[in-house]
Amino acid sequence: MTGAPNRESLIDKFGRTIDYVRISITDRCDFRCVYCMSEDMQFLPRNEILTLEELGVIGKTFVEMGVKKIRLTGGEPLVRQNCIKLIQELGALKDLEELAITTNGSQLEKLAPEIKNAGVKRINISLDSLLPEKFKSLTRTGNLHQVLRGIEAARSVGFERIKINSVILKNRNEKEVIPLTKFAIANGLDITFIEEMPLGVIDSHDRAEVYYSSDKIKGDLETVFTLSATNESTGGPAKYFKLPDSTTRIGFISPHSHNFCGDCNRVRVTVEGRLLLCLGQEHSIDLREIVRKWPGRTDPLKTAIKKSMSIKPEGHTFDLNEQPIIFRHMSHTGG
Ligand code: SAM
Ligand code: SF4
Repeated sequence: MTGAPNRESLIDKFGRTIDYVRISITDRCDFRCVYCMSEDMQFLPRNEILTLEELGVIGKTFVEMGVKKIRLTGGEPLVRQNCIKLIQELGALKDLEELAITTNGSQLEKLAPEIKNAGVKRINISLDSLLPEKFKSLTRTGNLHQVLRGIEAARSVGFERIKINSVILKNRNEKEVIPLTKFAIANGLDITFIEEMPLGVIDSHDRAEVYYSSDKIKGDLETVFTLSATNESTGGPAKYFKLPDSTTRIGFISPHSHNFCGDCNRVRVTVEGRLLLCLGQEHSIDLREIVRKWPGRTDPLKTAIKKSMSIKPEGHTFDLNEQPIIFRHMSHTGG
């Protein structure tokens, strides 16, 4: 689908076109992944989080400003009550080329058909281990079998593409890289390995100690598979490789070893309506104030969003050896 010629476009002061928005629709989650949350998380009070209607208006406004892709995330987006209503509303926006979801998979067994019918073509499902005990120790509260049933449900409704996301930590799950890749190949899925990012204070490990680089993961994979580089992109920061005789693509998101900021095309909206211009910086504007002052209106939002382009930073400055400078957890940020 091509956008109408008179649609606006969002361009930041470094000349990057912003056509991708990740919207966190809840900060809550049924898991407590060790790299994402602390065990004892405080969640936002209800009145501080945007309603589904407010999230819908914000999504629509971005699409009218040239955004082609929206990813719903969280927290766990599929635990938000009535999330399907929002998914349907955004899925019906005719100028939106792609509506995607990132999920931990726990609710997919139940919701996969409705998500597919609402127009979602691609989903990302997080999976860091195929060993039940290890999966439990990484997610603290997750149940591997429930997630595997969710993946199966997603496969059977026929999404165009399903991608597994795996965060790899040294001495925790780096031995899972090959089994996870074999699982992806056997099930016709893509898989992306992610370097852990220092977002928020966590209590389970020292992030520098568990750092396992994308190059190490690639080296491990090359003991078994032949990887060839591609220029393919899914509009995000991953770099992809192909395998012979397989549709599976293997991606790497490498904030530490291969900075991806130069071609950044995205911004994030947190569930309390903070428009974050960069994952790894605090530059932001408050959209909640605007959407609550002028309910249902897109023009005041457009003015603010356009202005925000002048404060989008050049890139993140993550340093695993320093205390986190970003106190937001990934679950709050919208990964
Ligand atoms: N709950 C959903 C899920 O887990 O897929 C969506 C939200 S989660 C914050 C989005 C992605 O961020 C997941 O793939 C998760 O593994 C990843 N993630 C969370 N914390 C991270 C961190 N500190 N560094 C890198 N990736 C992280
Ligand atoms: Fe929940 Fe996703 Fe964070 Fe895990 S990574 S705690 S599933 S939001």
